[in-house]
Amino acid sequence: MSAVLNGVYINGAWRAGHEVLEVINPATEATLARISVGDAQAVTHAVDAASAAFIDWSNSTGRDRGALLRKIAQGVSEQREQLMHVQSSNNGKPLFEAGIDVDDVIATFEYYAGIADAMDAGQDRPVALPSDDFSARLRREPCGVVGLIVPWNFPMVTTAWKLAPALAAGCCVVLKPSEVTPLAELQLAQIIADAGFPAGVFNLVCGTGLAVGAPLAADRRVAKISFTGSNAVGVQVMQRAAETIKGVSLELGGKSSLLVLADADLDLAVELACGGGFFNAGQMCSATSRVLVADSLVDEFLQRLQARAEGIRVADPFADDVEMGALINRVQYQRVLGHIQRGVEAGARLLCGGERPANLAKGYFIRPTVFTDVPLDSALWNEEIFGPVLCVRPFATEQEAIALANDSEFGLVASVVSRSVETTERVANALQAGLVWINAPQVIFPQTAWGGYKQSSIGRELGPWGLAAFQEIKHVIRSN
Ligand code: NAD
Repeated sequence: MSAVLNGVYINGAWRAGHEVLEVINPATEATLARISVGDAQAVTHAVDAASAAFIDWSNSTGRDRGALLRKIAQGVSEQREQLMHVQSSNNGKPLFEAGIDVDDVIATFEYYAGIADAMDAGQDRPVALPSDDFSARLRREPCGVVGLIVPWNFPMVTTAWKLAPALAAGCCVVLKPSEVTPLAELQLAQIIADAGFPAGVFNLVCGTGLAVGAPLAADRRVAKISFTGSNAVGVQVMQRAAETIKGVSLELGGKSSLLVLADADLDLAVELACGGGFFNAGQMCSATSRVLVADSLVDEFLQRLQARAEGIRVADPFADDVEMGALINRVQYQRVLGHIQRGVEAGARLLCGGERPANLAKGYFIRPTVFTDVPLDSALWNEEIFGPVLCVRPFATEQEAIALANDSEFGLVASVVSRSVETTERVANALQAGLVWINAPQVIFPQTAWGGYKQSSIGRELGPWGLAAFQEIKHVIRSN
């Protein structure tokens, strides 16, 4: 059995925790690593360290913070291959997908390094007042010690989207990775340790949600919790944060739609449906799991989609030509199979998939699954499945497609496929979603905001909005 890794990094030093957790490779079900993880006491120590470091860090120059962020980007870049390997082993995602994740992390740290560089000049701004008797200036200041809690589906990416702006803003952080996928964050933490940050600015406490996440959300010295995960846990985090009136940013679930309009390029539509439904084995908050197709195209679309879905190579993340890997663990695997089973019982028609591939005896694999005739009141249509499951439904008019897409308690993203610029712009404007892609795969840039409407989010990540989430606004008014 491999050595136990320290899963706690506080005040510039690695420490053992109070309990050992096993980390599993979901493609083989074998134990990948054993990690000594923290508890409420480790959280207290981490917040102690972060609080002590805050005054100096918050008064550092933007240029100094930018230089350190750039060092993280450089470190991640130098360790790209190992990080990809770790992500694929721990997450079950194909190596090419892990490469996309690592590149996103590099881009995010570089972007916020640039933002930090520019902060010295833009920190204080004069404010125009309707009176000559007074003058005023606006300052944006780091909000304090922040807690970052992230999920397992894009572990390092969801971390970078919080960590880079928090550090750029001048906040000190306590990061809690998912207990299911801590390995990439452990390597990232070592890169940060090697970058030369002052002790206490960055702290990491691996562990379970109850042992680490809950006390972090409850600690009165933590000014803000930025959380990405499920709606059920998001509610708990918000309730705990409410007790000390701390700010929360929440990135939660989705039930997003892909709209294939009557003049769509069908091959493109099929590719985008597969990308939106089966990337990361469908374990995406942004999964476009509802596919709405114009009446006139639906038969041809379903034929092509079925052929493509059945041809997707589901395999070990390191296999040649792998297109889709494993789901994250047994719980998620059984949860998705349960959704599929209940969908069939509710009267939906299973077109393809719905079971594990016959050639894979081990690992949490499920074939790409497509349903039609899904009842509008079924769980399959309304709940986040978080697995490789698409539900296809025809529509008669543009208005009907928009109404179907918007009929959800979520509103994270949407995609539209059509050859008409005018139509796609009109439809994009009518969709209740934080990001709409037109004839495009789910590309994400650090410059564009991430987050959604309704129960998908509170706040936005990335761009200047991601930075503002970690800042307080102060006005100073002087009598002239
Ligand atoms: P989860 O809610 O189970 O866990 C998320 C994190 O919260 C983990 O680190 C977990 O340990 C921690 N946690 C659990 N209980 C806690 C508690 N009581 N207090 C504080 N922390 C606690 O989510 P998951 O299963 O890891 O990830 C899947 C979910 O994440 C999906 O619902 C998905 O939609 C969502 N997600 C959203 C986005 C987005 O940007 N909107 C991105 C990725 C994932």
